[in-house]
Amino acid sequence: MGEWTPIHYRIHLEPDLERFRFEGNVEILMHAEQPMREISLNALDLAVWKCELLTAGQREACPFTVDPKKEALQIVLPGERTGRISVAIQYTGEINSKMAGFYRTKTTVGGKASYGAVTQFEESDARRAFPCFDHPAMKATFDVELVINASLVAISNAPVKEESALDEGRKVIRFERTPKMSTYLLFFGVGEFVFTEDKGKVLVRVATVRGVEKQARFALAFARKSLEFSEGYYGIAYPLPKLDLIAVADFAAGAMENWGAITFRENLVLHDPEVTSRAGEERICVVVAHEVAHQWFGNLVTPSDWRYLWLNESFATYFGYGVVDHVYPEWDLWHHFLHGQTEVALDRDALRETFPIEIPGGEHVVINVSTAPIIYNKGGSLLREIEAYVGKENFREGLHLYLGKHAYGNAASHHLWESLEEVSSKPISKMMKSWIEQPGFPLVHVKEDDSQLVFTQERFTYQPHESHQEWVIPLAVQVFDAQGGSRTVTTLLEGKSTAIDIGTDVVAYKVNPSHSGFYRVRYHDSRNLHELGSRVKDKSLCAEDRWGLQNDLYALVKKGDLSLEEYLDFLAHYGGEDAYLPLISIGANLYHAYLVMEDKRRERISSVGVSLFEHVLSSIGYDPREGEAHTTSILREHCIWYAVVYGSKGVAEFAQRMFSVLLKGGKVHPDMMKSVFQVGAFSGGGETLDWFAKRSEASDSEHERMNILAALGCFKDRALIERAQQYVLDEVPERNKFVAIGTMAENPYAMPFMWPWYVSSRKKLEQLHPVHYERVLAAVIPWGGLGREEEVKTFFKEKGLEDHSVVRLSLEKLEIHEKMRRVEAERRSDES
Ligand SMILES: [Zn+2]
Repeated sequence: MGEWTPIHYRIHLEPDLERFRFEGNVEILMHAEQPMREISLNALDLAVWKCELLTAGQREACPFTVDPKKEALQIVLPGERTGRISVAIQYTGEINSKMAGFYRTKTTVGGKASYGAVTQFEESDARRAFPCFDHPAMKATFDVELVINASLVAISNAPVKEESALDEGRKVIRFERTPKMSTYLLFFGVGEFVFTEDKGKVLVRVATVRGVEKQARFALAFARKSLEFSEGYYGIAYPLPKLDLIAVADFAAGAMENWGAITFRENLVLHDPEVTSRAGEERICVVVAHEVAHQWFGNLVTPSDWRYLWLNESFATYFGYGVVDHVYPEWDLWHHFLHGQTEVALDRDALRETFPIEIPGGEHVVINVSTAPIIYNKGGSLLREIEAYVGKENFREGLHLYLGKHAYGNAASHHLWESLEEVSSKPISKMMKSWIEQPGFPLVHVKEDDSQLVFTQERFTYQPHESHQEWVIPLAVQVFDAQGGSRTVTTLLEGKSTAIDIGTDVVAYKVNPSHSGFYRVRYHDSRNLHELGSRVKDKSLCAEDRWGLQNDLYALVKKGDLSLEEYLDFLAHYGGEDAYLPLISIGANLYHAYLVMEDKRRERISSVGVSLFEHVLSSIGYDPREGEAHTTSILREHCIWYAVVYGSKGVAEFAQRMFSVLLKGGKVHPDMMKSVFQVGAFSGGGETLDWFAKRSEASDSEHERMNILAALGCFKDRALIERAQQYVLDEVPERNKFVAIGTMAENPYAMPFMWPWYVSSRKKLEQLHPVHYERVLAAVIPWGGLGREEEVKTFFKEKGLEDHSVVRLSLEKLEIHEKMRRVEAERRSDES
């Protein structure tokens, strides 16, 4: 069967920001090799009222049908056609409030609200703005023309070509033609935009509403650096004359890489030195670099199908960190990567409810709480594994080859392997198939046998799971000899098991040095583990290894192979730990265990936590210091919050004192604002909630509003928790409700009330953007469901939702938590 291929779109739109409607007219030039009678386009929530075939200045009306279920518009031509034809479609649509398609956004600055309309098309929402061939492989060029109110400003992918006045205070804006690209990357937006510019070979601009221009400078400068790095590293010039970064108040995701017109949530592009913390600053850089990387990975070379979406997101994730590391090497970005990406991916992918990076099927891919950790975090982590395996230079050359070969076209995973194989002469295809095409990842068991180490692999899952899967694993082992030296031995583990000779003078061995390999390790010799512990203590193991050792052990606790006591005992080696990466991870693991355990089992965790975090705080200082390390600033916020939850009186007094400074109208350093807000809520009364509400309404910074959302989840008293829950439902903007609910779900005091609240508020919560509603489910079920597993399972079964991926993964997490609780309770009763 033949098909139509789009060549060019002419889109004419007249948005009305008072009635939130738009009129549209699209002309599509297309081509077919074989005679075709019908044209099948995608269209959704559009009122189509005319379709015409355009031939030599003539317009011939064509019958058409709309199928809302299939999101399709079917046009019947007057007869069979082949070669090139043009059709014109007239329609109207709503500027909706769904944060998808062509939608409205409301910005408030200095108490003044203004509306704008912007687009968000990935993955399949271009069809909400114009009928089109809405598939990433259907690339075409686009001419966009907008008729808008003369007082407004319009932005699209390409620069403005011409602007002319019309009657009734309107004007028409025509944009230059775009490069050949996919529909999901098209953008147009209208609003009260002002630009902060950086002129250069490529014009870089940040678009905001008036009044916050100052907050645009930080991201503007970093975007320029990102662009320069990317052009140099990939060896391919950025093809558009301009790059816009657009701050959008109401935004469902974090940012969107529309070619030349990237959109961001405000807190991911705007930077206020009085409010934005170092963590917030880092987040802006990582996200800007991520979106700039997409201009090549995704925009220039696009996945030939959604199943290869990882080719976009893994590279953008990887270079998101890589570029920031290049610009700010002193920030230790790869440590943030291991905690923020690899650790999250290992946790997500250890569920039975997981799937391969190359998403099976792929037609209905949605980036959500289930898929993102796989295609972003795991994919990015695998790129780090590949780079370590082929070497930095080969990696770069392979990417240059891959991008050059497929520019303005589409690619599948094998195209990437072929390029990397060509430059490195290593068996990449064979190796990567095992990582990309199957779900999960391996647990490598290691045992000593005379002068050999014996490695065996199996799939790692927290819950029992029958699997015969195997991976091709580039194994590396650092062996320490009696003389105090060490060397690294490598091998490829291809089957079930393998062995390597390590000689006889070995006193300890550490598998997966620096944790470049995406797998977990279980040491079966307690003597070796003890030796590694003493190398943690004297820090002869690097920070990545100190991180990975305890993190693998904690995963074995979740699996049920190791007791929590054994993990806590091992932490004794970390008493003098001062590095960000192991500390931040220990903090997260302890907090996880604290939430899982019942009250009477929490004591030891609290005491380990208090002593660890008080020690860290007294060595780095309670107050931020001028010129301190980036990671120190970020670590402090976490330490303050954890120490207070675990009952540290000294830290609580300090943070409460800081909070009272704020209550009196004073200032607190931005690098500890979040934790001070959190502690303020934790130890505050009803007046605190009112104060937060007022402060949030008066604020012009989304960074501040984010801090307040985190604090809203931290109340201790039941009545206050319930008031905060109601406040979130009634007052917090749609885009941010899930943020407060997420922190609430992980507040040990709010946790028991989350499930009944979810059940009674479900109708309202279901109105959230689907991706946000799924985040609520993923936050509430595993924690709020604790102690009522059967009730929760039955609830979703009765609602017919037990097969929904996010429900399934959340229920599995709940099972894991229940199991941890049970196992610890049984152990304790055995001991007594
Ligand atoms: Zn992305």
